[in-house]
Amino acid sequence: MKVDDSRSDDYFFRELKQSYHGLCRFWKKFSIWRYDHCIFVAAEKFLAHEITPKGVGLADPNHPEYRFKPVERDPPVTPREFRSRFYSCYQGGKKHAHRWRQCRHQSLGSADALERIPKRDRMVVEESEKREDFWGLEAVECISFLMFAIYQFLFLIAPFVFWALWLTLWGHNGDLQNASVPLLTAIGLWSLFRFTVFNK
Ligand SMILES: [Zn+2]
Repeated sequence: MKVDDSRSDDYFFRELKQSYHGLCRFWKKFSIWRYDHCIFVAAEKFLAHEITPKGVGLADPNHPEYRFKPVERDPPVTPREFRSRFYSCYQGGKKHAHRWRQCRHQSLGSADALERIPKRDRMVVEESEKREDFWGLEAVECISFLMFAIYQFLFLIAPFVFWALWLTLWGHNGDLQNASVPLLTAIGLWSLFRFTVFNK
């Protein structure tokens, strides 16, 4: 992401949001994982297009390639602030309304958060074979309760409908044992699927 000193927090966090969505592929829309916050990390490029994270870290304030306003607090921008700004509204001055919530516009033109984030004066040339260390932001994701609930509903709705139809319209009144077989199987498979796929 390119950003210069004249930019505001609004600009930066809007660009951050667009960059995150730009990096996500189409299938990501159906994922239960959603952006939660960013962390400050160190990273190393060891070959062309090969980058490995090296854990949480912040550039040295005296590093010649980085500029930012050092603050006592670590991290300089908290996970809560990253999350709040990511899900803020960036409609600008355009007239608009939200259906389910109030407008969450927060930055008011300041650059206080952006000043604290280390910005490198040059891009990392990914095509280059040269080894180099750098610092940046890494997105951390969390499970969306809504998406999880939707998948759970879709997985269990068919055996539940079967259970209801078996006992009512299909004339097996009182045959709870046979009616419950698909539902209990689905619950068992769902638990296994949830454990192996959703625990990353
Ligand atoms: Zn709004």
